[in-house]
Amino acid sequence: MRDYVKLTERDNVAVVTHDVSKGVEIMPGLILLDDIPQAHKFALVDIPKDGEIIRYGVVLGYALDAIKRGAWINEHMLRLPTSPSVDNMKWGINIRTDLPEAPRKTFMGYRNPDGFYAGTRNILGIQTTVQCVQGVLDVAVDRIRHEILPKYPNIDDVVAINHAYGCGVAINAPDAKFPIRALQNIARHPNFGGQLMVVSLGCEKLTVERLVGAENNTPENVVVLQDCKGFNAMMSAIMEMAEKKLQVLNERRREELPLSELLVGMQCGGSDAFSGVSANPSAGYAADMLVQGGATVMFSEVTEVRDGVNFIAERCVSAEVRDKLADEMRWYDKYLDAGEVDRSANPTPGNKKGGLSNIVEKAMGSIAKSGTSPIVEVLSPAERPTKHGMIYAATPASDIVCGPCQLASGIGLQVFMTGRGTPYGLAAAPVIKVCSRNEMKAQWPDVIDISAGAVVTGEKTIQEVGTELFNFILDVASGIKKPYTEQYGLHNFLCIFNPAPIT
Ligand code: CA
Repeated sequence: MRDYVKLTERDNVAVVTHDVSKGVEIMPGLILLDDIPQAHKFALVDIPKDGEIIRYGVVLGYALDAIKRGAWINEHMLRLPTSPSVDNMKWGINIRTDLPEAPRKTFMGYRNPDGFYAGTRNILGIQTTVQCVQGVLDVAVDRIRHEILPKYPNIDDVVAINHAYGCGVAINAPDAKFPIRALQNIARHPNFGGQLMVVSLGCEKLTVERLVGAENNTPENVVVLQDCKGFNAMMSAIMEMAEKKLQVLNERRREELPLSELLVGMQCGGSDAFSGVSANPSAGYAADMLVQGGATVMFSEVTEVRDGVNFIAERCVSAEVRDKLADEMRWYDKYLDAGEVDRSANPTPGNKKGGLSNIVEKAMGSIAKSGTSPIVEVLSPAERPTKHGMIYAATPASDIVCGPCQLASGIGLQVFMTGRGTPYGLAAAPVIKVCSRNEMKAQWPDVIDISAGAVVTGEKTIQEVGTELFNFILDVASGIKKPYTEQYGLHNFLCIFNPAPIT
């Protein structure tokens, strides 16, 4: 087992794979000057005041004071560099064509009538126009699950799409397009099989017409609570409509489909300094295999690519894709600026405890999950892709906001990398958990699906864990396996990204 990881020749720091005490000779002739916690950095050379601190081959920051060889480097010792300009970024100079061969080219999914990506689950999704209906709908869904669902064995679940949007909002503000688009597209999610069902209050700003179109505003698709005479009438209206939809959905069957029908989302959360060494590169390798096999893979999280955006631009297949990338970054820079912060507001106390000194280091680890394949399309938050291959969707990095954005884009499942651990999950699509270190898997053996910890210790390669993950992704997509979050029903509230004003 190795004691430290140095990632590129250029790096002047390395990361310890376990807690190491002061005085230990970590490599021939290099004695540690401090106790170094697991995943934290130590200096490989003397670094002068204002000298570059380099990991991943990039400058993480500049030393606030001189740092001696063998000393611990933590988040208090670096000055953040300015983020790279998004003007005139080079595109197309890093287009890889020799991606690793996908060992499987098909999966078992639910083909959809609209020709969009296939479903990985068969779910009745009940849409809501406004938060006001949630109490009633939750009671109804509980009854549907217990009283009706057992009659329909081909259906996985009934899910209420509850959210905080819909009323008390500036519905015509320019940025209201984000939450409205998200809810419109979640209603069309591939796992819902084209069956629309909406529960509305009757006086909200997000009207049924606006959510699902006037053509879908019919008594067959919509229950309006203010039109029901009392609570029992609300219950029976919702339950009767649900049963009709379940009868249709129950006829859906899995069939063998090419990987071009599969859309996979990648996200990370609770990251540590190993995320970019083990879990994210393994996910990136699996992503490369998926893309090679014809699938579409989406990665996101603006503040976690902002400092490495030039590496993303180099992989863009056209000037148009590069331009959209730049536009999305500019929009987000302005959004953060309006709140008087910048991307450095991103890292959490847990990230820092896990050895991540700043947002540059976090970003370099985060973008590793996108693998190395060409970027064929860039999306605004909650847009649906139109291309196949690697796609960047410019969503917030917050786990519970990125999740619904990717759901709206139509992901059949999400692969979620973590170093510190989070039980986050989505009701409408499975979430696979991949951890960066063995201690995390030992701590949560029955929450983490795949550990990339053996990459840190040198006992497995990125290719080995990446291939294992690729196969697990296809097994989950095919309904052969369920990740732990799905087995337990761990579902987070859908926090819909709303940069527009609340009234
Ligand atoms: Ca995240």
